[in-house]
Amino acid sequence: MTLKEAINEHADTLVRATAAGGFIRCVAAVTTNTAAEAARRHQTTHTVSAALGRTLTGALLLGAGQKEFDRLTVRIEGDGPVGSITVESNKFGQVRGYAREPRADELLNGDGSYLLNEQGKFSVRSIIGEGMLHVSYESGFDIGLHREPYRGSVPLQTGELGEDFAYYLAKSEQIPSAVSLGVLVRARESGETFVEAAGGVMVQVMPGADERVVAAIESSIGKNLSTTNLIREGARPVDLLRAALSDIQFEVLEERVVGFACTCSYERAASLISSIDAVELEAMLREDKGASLTCHFCNETYRIDEPTLAEMVEKNRSVVCE
Ligand code: ZN
Repeated sequence: MTLKEAINEHADTLVRATAAGGFIRCVAAVTTNTAAEAARRHQTTHTVSAALGRTLTGALLLGAGQKEFDRLTVRIEGDGPVGSITVESNKFGQVRGYAREPRADELLNGDGSYLLNEQGKFSVRSIIGEGMLHVSYESGFDIGLHREPYRGSVPLQTGELGEDFAYYLAKSEQIPSAVSLGVLVRARESGETFVEAAGGVMVQVMPGADERVVAAIESSIGKNLSTTNLIREGARPVDLLRAALSDIQFEVLEERVVGFACTCSYERAASLISSIDAVELEAMLREDKGASLTCHFCNETYRIDEPTLAEMVEKNRSVVCE
């Protein structure tokens, strides 16, 4: 899909820009489809849809601020009912992720009610609790380099995630940053989750930036920026930047398509199952008449049918005999 087609079809996009002579770097993304796809695939309850959507968006923003990496992993680990959230993105703007307890709201309140925060939004911190934000960047796979990944971890500050990403950037990557992440979740009459809008903005201040510019950005990106309201009204990433930077002029460097995508496939699932030893495979064949494997990241289930599994047993058995 070209960028133009993507925009016409309301696909998710991300924009990278600079301002103040390169001293300000900014990224904005509209991720409504990405967050909705994750919620649909994992059948998440409302607050988990918001938490997962924010983490997916945060990973896309972080990745866009990096020059070279193959895989970026963001892991939120808290003591709340959602357990953990794991998200991976790559330099092509593809992202995938899951929550350990996709229906954490039900664990929090047995009566099916939801905790709302001061702004009347689903309280993401109530399902995440206290814990850590871990980030790692891996690079060099495709040219056979097995470099140690770059890793950074910070304690969660609020558990609402936007501020936690900002804290990570300031502490671990030493870049003062403002990060706003939003997912507007609604409940259908059936009780099902519906992501109406999602997106985020990241503004980073490079060393030597004019203090007055920094102060102006801080005041405009603060409490006044309602990312999801703007997106619901049809805002694109450039409009989010305009709102975040108010009077400050910026120059767009790149706009690209982003979205939920997983690297799993039937072939990979089959290859994993075929590596199980023959005795265990035989038990699966006898008891389940096949085997199935579900991908954590996208919740897709791959079913290996009886004849294919029988073939695998034969192959593994002959390996043992040789
Ligand atoms: Zn998958």
